[in-house]
Amino acid sequence: MTGNAEWIKRGEQVFVGTYSRFPAAMVKGRGCRLWDADGREYLDFLAGIAVCSLGHCHPAVTEAVCRQAGELMHVSNLFHTRPQIELAELLTQNSFADRVFMANSGAEANEAAIKLARIHAGEGRFEIISLSGSFHGRTLATVAATGQPKFHQGFEPLPEGFIHAGFGDPAALEELISDKTCAILCEPLQGESGVRPLEPEYLQAIRNLCDKHNLLLIFDEVQTGLGRTGTLFAHEQLGVTPDIMTLAKALGNGLPIGAMLTTDDIAASLGVGTHASTFGGNPVAAAGAVAVLKTMLAPGFLDQVRERSAYFMERLEEVAARFPHLATGVRGRGLLLGLVLTEKGCDLGMDIVNQLFARGVLINFAGGRVLRFIPPLIVEAEDIDLLIDRLVEVLNGC
Ligand SMILES: *Cc1c(COP(=O)(O)O)cnc(C)c1O
Repeated sequence: MTGNAEWIKRGEQVFVGTYSRFPAAMVKGRGCRLWDADGREYLDFLAGIAVCSLGHCHPAVTEAVCRQAGELMHVSNLFHTRPQIELAELLTQNSFADRVFMANSGAEANEAAIKLARIHAGEGRFEIISLSGSFHGRTLATVAATGQPKFHQGFEPLPEGFIHAGFGDPAALEELISDKTCAILCEPLQGESGVRPLEPEYLQAIRNLCDKHNLLLIFDEVQTGLGRTGTLFAHEQLGVTPDIMTLAKALGNGLPIGAMLTTDDIAASLGVGTHASTFGGNPVAAAGAVAVLKTMLAPGFLDQVRERSAYFMERLEEVAARFPHLATGVRGRGLLLGLVLTEKGCDLGMDIVNQLFARGVLINFAGGRVLRFIPPLIVEAEDIDLLIDRLVEVLNGC
């Protein structure tokens, strides 16, 4: 049997060094638990970065994927396939949208949204305004849309037509709008930069600016979508509807799939030949996503997410109150929650994450400011209690 050390050594010899990984080679997952090649068990409050929302190897998803893999794996979008149609039907029946373009990732879904916004607006209107602190992906266009300079460094010149407005300031945003602007792109809650929710009034002000200046509003719900915040899509509970929405992460519960959703009228601008993806909406990934949506839409599922969220928030508030020198409070929605650290806490952020890892609990440090908790949505109260116990142990030692 080969253990962690051997796998890690082999991995380090063959990969481009883009990732700083935890020192574990994961071999198995079930529900909220993972096991590494040394047989160590972990409580997973990362869920593959908000991807495995139904937990690892959810039986309905595994069954759908295995069945589809034995029937038909791939034919390309030169043909119709059953899982892809069923998935698009489920997405449109349960959202503002009428039409779907299938991609393979969040960045690709955003690329489709960017292309649609530009072609829909027509000649000369190509500029997209996004927010500082945002994260929209790592392709050149989505990295240009991402409002964090650290992701741009070394890759200039970036594609033109992306500008960033200060967070939380609709007046500053309006000043950036010109006759070149075609869309405003934002996350209803910024995940990567530290679990920063946009207040409903702010989102409404952005919607109003789009209506006033005839711009498309694009919501990147790659991280917030699919039940993560307690409703199927985060914007539902905020009372603001976009013109375009992008999804990925939890859509396939681990299989790579993304989607760009929009209305009939706007979709009409992307005609035959304007955009495509060889794998987009691949039957196996789509069959998994159909199982994901059916599970999330079953009566009671989202109610339970909201219930767990309320309990988890309460427990995190206790932690914040107990360690005021390390934490200032809790923020987020649903099961996308963050413990905001003080300046002293921030210095210890990575250390806290690593000490939790050593105790078999997986979380991460987001935006240099926040301990982020994104467990599978099926997390039990006992799992939350275990995480809190371990976290308190670690914070006690800080
Ligand atoms: C993760 C993420 C992306 C990028 O998704 P990939 O699948 O990694 O390309 C885009 N937007 C948001 C909000 C994300 O959280």
